[in-house]
Amino acid sequence: MARHSLEVIREHIDSMPLIDHHVHSCLAEKPSYERLEKLICESAGPLGEGQSRFDSQAGFSLLRHCSPLLFGSRCRIDEYVKLREHMPEAEIDARMLGNAGVSDWIIDPGWGGKELISLDEFSHRSQGRVRRLLRLESLAETVLASTAEAGGFPETFRSELAVQSVGCVGFKSICAYRCGFDIDWQAPSDTDVADAVMAMDATARSHVQNPIITSFIIHEAMRYELPIQFHVGIGDRDVDLRHSNPLDLRSLLIEAERRRVPIALLHCWPFERECGYLCQNFTNVYMDVGLTMYLTGIQAVDSLRRAMELCPFSRLLYSSDAWGLPELHYLGAVVFREALCSLLCTWVESDSWLPDDALRVADMIASGNASRLYGLSTQDM
Ligand SMILES: [Zn+2]
Repeated sequence: MARHSLEVIREHIDSMPLIDHHVHSCLAEKPSYERLEKLICESAGPLGEGQSRFDSQAGFSLLRHCSPLLFGSRCRIDEYVKLREHMPEAEIDARMLGNAGVSDWIIDPGWGGKELISLDEFSHRSQGRVRRLLRLESLAETVLASTAEAGGFPETFRSELAVQSVGCVGFKSICAYRCGFDIDWQAPSDTDVADAVMAMDATARSHVQNPIITSFIIHEAMRYELPIQFHVGIGDRDVDLRHSNPLDLRSLLIEAERRRVPIALLHCWPFERECGYLCQNFTNVYMDVGLTMYLTGIQAVDSLRRAMELCPFSRLLYSSDAWGLPELHYLGAVVFREALCSLLCTWVESDSWLPDDALRVADMIASGNASRLYGLSTQDM
């Protein structure tokens, strides 16, 4: 294979615009060192005396990619933290978000809203377009907080969903964090839902994990025929990985397919193969390996390779799942580009793939698939 073709592929992947189809906003306040360390790993807290979360693929990757962009050269952890302390957050945001090469950010504002900058401010700092997702569990919790009569919940949820979904490009569910996927996915009756609400105390209402309520809110969302995103696999320690295997979504996927509702499986580690298999077998299932990218750093190529075993290339999406720390918005993109480039160049170099196909597939994964899935206008791309 001509060296020239590989150069063209590298340059193309480095500069192609991305649609980050699942992401969150940035912190309004400068994070402390402890917060910074926690945020790079979705972890519960510090590892213990003498240990640092920076001593990980995520940490090394952050120092490798972000320190030259912020401070002109590669730094050690202590230098990075010290220099970062003196740089205004708005400037860090602008550099990180602006250099991610993302044209559209599809934001889930359903968690930690008060700590984060507004979506308008995010759009301003990133110089990109912002679209919004609606997190179903957050809406259910808001409605439950103001529902006195359990019997009124189904109807109130329906009308609130109609109001809140205006302007959204999709929904998001975190049921993997709550009841898990191995539940009865048949649509419950309003009476079943009311009975479930009746049995919930204030704590249960503020943290929805009842499988009947979960199934209800997802079936209601399906009426809109918008994509529904599901957190799958990797997360912080609140997620029980044993119950977030996407194969347990099968009956729901069959129902969603019948109703022409697209489903997007997010993050997926360590279930990239299961997700790829589901994408191959259903006409409505999409996946990404977001979050995994910045967490696994230089090893991200393995996660992407597993996804690309079976997942049709028209069903693979890009996301960062960055939350709070602008470094993660940048890192998601740069690590993804590097991993994709490594795979595609290897396949072209061995003459398995044609260079033109590599360029076409790169564009599909970067933005084409998401643009089609979320109905984003191509004129303003
Ligand atoms: Zn997320």
